[in-house]
Amino acid sequence: MNSLINLKNLKRAEIISDIKKTAEDFQSLNFMEVCGTHTMQIYRAGIPSILPSNINLLSGPGCPVCVTPEEFIDKAIAYLKEGYEILTFGDLYRVPGTYGSLEKECSGKVKIIYSPSESLEYALNNPDKKFILLAVGFETTAPLFAAVVIDAKKKGIKNLFLLCALKLIPPVMRYLLDAGELKIDGFLLPGHVATIIGSEEFRKVCDDYKKPGVVSGFEPEDILQSIFILLMLLKHKSRFLETQYRMAVKKEGNILARREMEKVFQKTKAKWRGIGEIENSGLTLKEEFIEYDISYIHPLKIESQVFNPRCRCGEVLRGIISPVDCPLFDNGCSPQTPQGPCMVSSEGACAAIYKYGRE
Ligand code: SF4
Repeated sequence: MNSLINLKNLKRAEIISDIKKTAEDFQSLNFMEVCGTHTMQIYRAGIPSILPSNINLLSGPGCPVCVTPEEFIDKAIAYLKEGYEILTFGDLYRVPGTYGSLEKECSGKVKIIYSPSESLEYALNNPDKKFILLAVGFETTAPLFAAVVIDAKKKGIKNLFLLCALKLIPPVMRYLLDAGELKIDGFLLPGHVATIIGSEEFRKVCDDYKKPGVVSGFEPEDILQSIFILLMLLKHKSRFLETQYRMAVKKEGNILARREMEKVFQKTKAKWRGIGEIENSGLTLKEEFIEYDISYIHPLKIESQVFNPRCRCGEVLRGIISPVDCPLFDNGCSPQTPQGPCMVSSEGACAAIYKYGRE
């Protein structure tokens, strides 16, 4: 056991030394991770404190719950009041909408699920009830929701619907680069998203903007290696994308999962909380499956507003400020009293820094 730990430490020490040596060739660098799992790992492992001071890690819009807008929560609450039962992942339960969260407004009437497939059981076992499955996530979870819709259609289920806020990572990367609000020198890219869509989708973005990106795994050593590879890409300027997470990521991704996703969903304009509307950055149900789209079957008009105008999640999600720069951080906003989704979600940047500290 000891030798394993030593070996791991040695490996980590070597990578850190390589990073430090290579970083000497650069002035200040901003690397953005667009993945909540990376954000959590980075702070859990204390990575910012072991990097040279000219490498700044920024958390981008990679937490699906954090980018889900207020009106989505408001709609879910409104549907509950119309007699539907809501099925959702636990993270979304405490995220504030305009007036409050599902937890505050409708405690006890919402069912927490661990996998979208559980919704089929609920619907089949309770034919007298109507269920809405909150479809929130990125390309990693979209195939699971697609499989639910395909299965529901096959089984003739008529009492299960989706309220859809699924989002796509490459379009939001393009949006941030086009907006040019901050200098991004490279991206740490989500290995699990690339497992589904393939590294090729990320290569297109990195090549178009001549911006280095590394598809990274999730262990601290993976992230450190990816930071080193980013530095090498910047140094050599011969190409813009590299895959560190090679054991899981193929160029073309997971063909089966992509096929299911493309069968059920089409791209649409989507609203990202704190960021705005981005063309073709969301997924909505195709015509063929429209009977499972609650927004089509039972449209509701909702007047939504920002939950707390002093919450600066939008700037956190765009990498413009660090959570600790928000005046409410640990001063009215904490995991017990969250004022924004970045403090609620287990993948939110505010929650990560609150829990593990900035260093
Ligand atoms: Fe919003 Fe709280 Fe984060 Fe500030 S600390 S940005 S209020 S979630």
